[in-house]
Amino acid sequence: MDNKNKLIYYTNKDLTKIPLLQKLSKEDIFGIYLVSLVFPFRVNSFVIQNLIDPDNLPDDPIFRLTFPHPDMLSENHFSNLHTAVKNKYPKEKLNSLIYEIRKTLNPHPAGQLTSNVPVVNHEPVKGLQHKYRETALIFPTQGQTCHSFCTFCFRWPQFVGMDDLKFATDESLKYQHYIKEHKELTNILITGGDPMVMKARNLEKYISPFLEDGFEHIRFIRIGTKSLTYNPFRYLTDDDSDDILRLFSKISEKGNHLSIMAHFNHHIELHPQPVQNAISRILSTGASIRCQSPILKHINDSVDVWVNMWREQVRQGCIPYYMFVERDTGAHDYFAIPLTKAYKIFRKAFSQVSGLARTVRGPSMSATPGKILIDGITTINQEKVFVLNMIQARNPDWTKKPFFASFDKKATWINQLKPAFGDNDFFYEKELENITRGNISLGASTNPWSSSIIN
Ligand code: SF4
Repeated sequence: MDNKNKLIYYTNKDLTKIPLLQKLSKEDIFGIYLVSLVFPFRVNSFVIQNLIDPDNLPDDPIFRLTFPHPDMLSENHFSNLHTAVKNKYPKEKLNSLIYEIRKTLNPHPAGQLTSNVPVVNHEPVKGLQHKYRETALIFPTQGQTCHSFCTFCFRWPQFVGMDDLKFATDESLKYQHYIKEHKELTNILITGGDPMVMKARNLEKYISPFLEDGFEHIRFIRIGTKSLTYNPFRYLTDDDSDDILRLFSKISEKGNHLSIMAHFNHHIELHPQPVQNAISRILSTGASIRCQSPILKHINDSVDVWVNMWREQVRQGCIPYYMFVERDTGAHDYFAIPLTKAYKIFRKAFSQVSGLARTVRGPSMSATPGKILIDGITTINQEKVFVLNMIQARNPDWTKKPFFASFDKKATWINQLKPAFGDNDFFYEKELENITRGNISLGASTNPWSSSIIN
């Protein structure tokens, strides 16, 4: 098919060329520029023309989702940057200021770099993470960017060139050998960035090996992507759109399940016709589409947004899957809402949808021990508590064991919670510490199933 829908991409060098921004003052645009020096910024013409309401600036949710805002940095950091740029600091001095600011923004939360990368023959397996027993994450080299960048993204360090924090596969294909050896794995999740920035021929190189002999244990293939909303033409009119659809069909025909893990942060993103057409085409291949998003201040911290989003997802044949809690990294203070508020929004929204949309789980924190779900707020023995459990855990035995934290109306993340009933630790903490100690002494992976040697 001819691509009649070629997108225009804008970075912080093109801010003055974006027609939408003409509605803002020069100072506002300068503010966007300053923050974009710290966080990645890239937006395309589909997002600007189809998802952002120009009459709703600067509070439009998709504008907040894609355009940086001064409040995403502390006043101090913002003012230092302002001074540096206004006074034309030399490049090295400005870069070093930016680097220092980035380092204060917790660039690798949940022990991703130290805890999830398997080690074989004392070398990390590049581009692979193995945190949960059944699932390996693959970070293809060519998929480490996105069609547009989200301002809340926890993977922001990858996109700003903090090279020491970058995960990506290398030529050695060690990741494939590792997956072949580890028969406990049943799922692979191809992620990024956004793997759907890759050409179909590259995507095929990452998927097809898992459909061949030796990988019979891999029955479930997932692709994490925001392309449905940031570039639906990937499935419609790009030169290789049909090849992508053929690849998806091939997975189903081989008897495996393909799930597109789609990021939708707001129901507005489901409305454009190209998005709906892309969803239909993907579903016609036998794949399913599961939908997930963090709950974010300024973007979707309202019951109505979630009710409308889940209903619309079900109407179009998609499966509501996760409401996440925003991770403690990057512009966390700007987006985070208290856990108690996240729980109340989830509960109220959940109560307003039919059983078809109640496939969704949340609010869930992707933290070091696992995905910790806030399951309730209640009072036990006169103590107000959060009722928690893990829906996915580093040690599978921790899954679905209820545990309790003292209620804290300001807490926004698990590390701000204290165990309830006077306990010193949550039940998993000692074991987690041992795992981490093991990691330090080995200089290796923390997972018992990921430290084996492949010769
Ligand atoms: S599309 Fe996904 S990986 Fe890319 S910036 Fe957005 S949240 Fe991050």
